[in-house]
Amino acid sequence: MQIVEHAPSLAPFHACALVPTMGALHAGHASLIKRAASDGRPVVVSLFVNPTQFAAGEDFSKYPRTLEADRALCQAAGAEAIFIPSVTDMYPHGVDAANAQAAALKLPLVATQPQLEDAWRPTHFAGVCQVVAKLFDMCQPAAAYFGEKDFQQLRVIQDMARREGARWKNIVVHACPTIRESDGLAMSSRNRYLQANQRENALGLSRALAAAQECARAGMDSAAAESEMRRVLAQHQLEVEYAVIRAPETLLPIEKFQPELKSVARALIAARLDGVRLIDNASCAGAISDRGG
Ligand code: AMP
Repeated sequence: MQIVEHAPSLAPFHACALVPTMGALHAGHASLIKRAASDGRPVVVSLFVNPTQFAAGEDFSKYPRTLEADRALCQAAGAEAIFIPSVTDMYPHGVDAANAQAAALKLPLVATQPQLEDAWRPTHFAGVCQVVAKLFDMCQPAAAYFGEKDFQQLRVIQDMARREGARWKNIVVHACPTIRESDGLAMSSRNRYLQANQRENALGLSRALAAAQECARAGMDSAAAESEMRRVLAQHQLEVEYAVIRAPETLLPIEKFQPELKSVARALIAARLDGVRLIDNASCAGAISDRGG
């Protein structure tokens, strides 16, 4: 497996399958790499903790950096190269200038309208779009793989790639399912922040999602499912930022009850456990309706 530090050395990997990550890799990332490899193209994994997607006061400086273990995981999962650019290579004019540039980007509506991650991390998607655009331009992949774990991010990238159809016309954005621990906790690099005694309460997210799925199966409306999620989250001492049922494309509230569509809604949660921020989501198949029913 090749280690690439500078963008010009990516030339032999154009038309590859790209898996963008921030490192601190786990089995969720490995599943993206394996899926990409199984599609038959050489896989490039980028490992870059992108400063412009972190706001001041977030965990940029303490974000886990585990390059040696990441290298081994990428190799074992079938990557042909890892791309580990420096901050200076990505942002030669400095991070302040890059932040200003990111703030001026025109983002897809799904990055600004839903009032989910966009409301709680207002500068986040500008940084994500900025770095993914750079990675796409540097790698010129034929395909890119993103996890449903970060569902709003996935939708943002899908819409960004569609909008830039001419520039990235060959890039197919693939959505990969969330990989969980055996007890249901969604794998995340940030799970390392959890103390042993917080680990049980962290299960509140997946349990709340399961409760929402149950509500959907039972034909309850989205307001009932949302209050059920909040109840489960509170039981686990989780401080809720949002716990909502949304339309899976726009991530906006579901407007009409359309039983004939058996609409597949998305339940999305962000919650804090003593300052550790956790997100999770799941599809809710069933006749889920809006607040009016
Ligand atoms: P990150 O390094 O956290 O920015 O994540 C890199 C990619 O891995 C993103 O597309 C994430 O959605 C995806 N990812 C993170 N955790 C998981 C998981 N548990 N299952 C599947 N994909 C994941």
